[in-house]
Amino acid sequence: MKYAYIALGSNIGDKAAHLRAAVAHLRALPSVHDVQASSIYETVPVGYLNQDLFYNMVVAIQTTDAADVLLGRLQEIEQLEGRKRLFKNGPRTLDLDILLYAEEQIDLEGLTVPHPRMQERAFVLAPLRELAAEQIVPGLGQSVEQLYEQLPESERNGVRQLGGLLEAEEQ
Ligand code: AMP
Repeated sequence: MKYAYIALGSNIGDKAAHLRAAVAHLRALPSVHDVQASSIYETVPVGYLNQDLFYNMVVAIQTTDAADVLLGRLQEIEQLEGRKRLFKNGPRTLDLDILLYAEEQIDLEGLTVPHPRMQERAFVLAPLRELAAEQIVPGLGQSVEQLYEQLPESERNGVRQLGGLLEAEEQ
């Protein structure tokens, strides 16, 4: 069994519902156990700015899947939630990324772990630090908390904590 951390994001339609559905799909997988969810954060989009705010969160899981198998399952969940993406960094119904997979550094075609841009993003590090503040990020040699504290204030100010999966939908 390995632990993994997965980032979830949505910025189309009922965003909290997409995130809730993704967590339910993960919980239903026989190869995934002990799913723990961070709060949801409302975040300013990165890159292409002329789009709706995102909802982002992170989940911790235990899994018997190899990382590439896990990625395939995440992509199936994205499809089930009707993912449509018009262009890179554009709006999407549901995006699932593997942030960390145990202490492993993975560099396959189509899968890089730790996720290569996670240390730049408050919308990843803010929810991740709720679950794994002390976790050392392989290759960077720093903890999630240390990476979060090094983010520019402007980046940290771009995310707003909403609450848990159930509360967030009422906002
Ligand atoms: P995006 O949906 O824009 O995040 O990009 C999806 C693409 O990123 C897919 O083709 C994946 O194969 C690739 N990819 C590379 N590393 C990862 C990772 N750690 N988690 C999820 N997708 C990844």
